[in-house]
Amino acid sequence: MKPHPLIILGSGAAGCTAAIYAARAGLKPLLIRGNQPGGQLTITTDVENYPGFAATIQGPWLMEQMEAQAKHCGTEIAEDHIVAANLKAKTLTGMNGQTYHFQSLIIATGATAKWLGLEGEKTYNGKGVSACATCDGAFYRNQNVAVVGGGNTALEEALYLANIAKTVTLIHRRDAFRGEKVLQERVKNHPKITIIYNHTVAEILGNPHPITGGVTGLKLQSTTDNSTQEIKVHGLFIAIGHAPNTTLFKNQIDLDETGYIIAQKGTVQTTHQGQPLKGIFAAGDVADPIYRQAVTAAGMGCMAALDANRYLESLH
Ligand SMILES: Cc1cc2nc3c(=O)[nH]c(=O)nc-3n(C[C@H](O)[C@H](O)[C@H](O)COP(=O)(O)OP(=O)(O)OC[C@H]3O[C@@H](n4cnc5c(N)ncnc54)[C@H](O)[C@@H]3O)c2cc1C
Repeated sequence: MKPHPLIILGSGAAGCTAAIYAARAGLKPLLIRGNQPGGQLTITTDVENYPGFAATIQGPWLMEQMEAQAKHCGTEIAEDHIVAANLKAKTLTGMNGQTYHFQSLIIATGATAKWLGLEGEKTYNGKGVSACATCDGAFYRNQNVAVVGGGNTALEEALYLANIAKTVTLIHRRDAFRGEKVLQERVKNHPKITIIYNHTVAEILGNPHPITGGVTGLKLQSTTDNSTQEIKVHGLFIAIGHAPNTTLFKNQIDLDETGYIIAQKGTVQTTHQGQPLKGIFAAGDVADPIYRQAVTAAGMGCMAALDANRYLESLH
């Protein structure tokens, strides 16, 4: 079977941007949407930081526009989710057993935010509950917010929010943080941040009305004696980590200890055992444990498409 010159795995900001650039370069890309068409931005509401829009836009709308642009430029779209990959043989297997052959591949499978598993996370998602302070912090200017977690992400999110919110309560289930010492010191010394150790969030309190509702507080439970207390906050930021969607590529591509793809420094080139995997690129959150923004994902998607084009040209 004739291989596709370029397959793009994922239909988030990285995948769609890669598709726009690749299609305009005449590469006839096939974009496989996966089981979350449009990616993470489809599970949020207001987006205020994607360049080009003075007014607040909606995440799902932005992703519809990106995919429509990719199609308009000539991208072929496949409704499939990949369940197996053989990077040596350059093949992917879809949910229904279909095999896709490729000459070059852009992996843009993103990452999934980890949640606590509370019912209220669904009820108040986008209405007080968030997994991204950089994305949603500005909606809580001069309000009381809480952050849950104990690693670097939680400490960084608390510090970021302290510049915007009135107060930040940092809730951690243990009696000490895992994050870097220097961040711990900054958090402990910040006048706007209060730390509650040895507690978990037992319940998110609020008004569930879909339009006028929102979070009003949290019920916390002690991990030492099970006692409970309530705090008043309007925003809850869950910062317990992300899981990059890379299980498919384990042992075939270099990943860091948390599963993110390690690209060669300053590029989107993937490697295996330190050697470049020619024609295989990674873009967006799947290869970015630090910035994790739609605009950075889009930028990496552009880089990956330009590099795929160069790679395909080098084959002639
Ligand atoms: C609640 C929330 C709010 C946010 N708000 C903002 C914001 O306001 N501004 C901002 O800039 N960023 C925001 N972000 C971050 C932003 O959504 C991400 O940085 C961005 O979506 C990353 O894009 P991506 O293309 O790398 O990956 P993703 O958006 O994660 O997309 C991954 C894609 O890969 C596909 N996929 C996964 N596995 C497979 C597979 N096996 N086979 C085929 N396809 C697969 C999925 O279906 C999906 O389409 C927010 C994130 C969250 C969770």
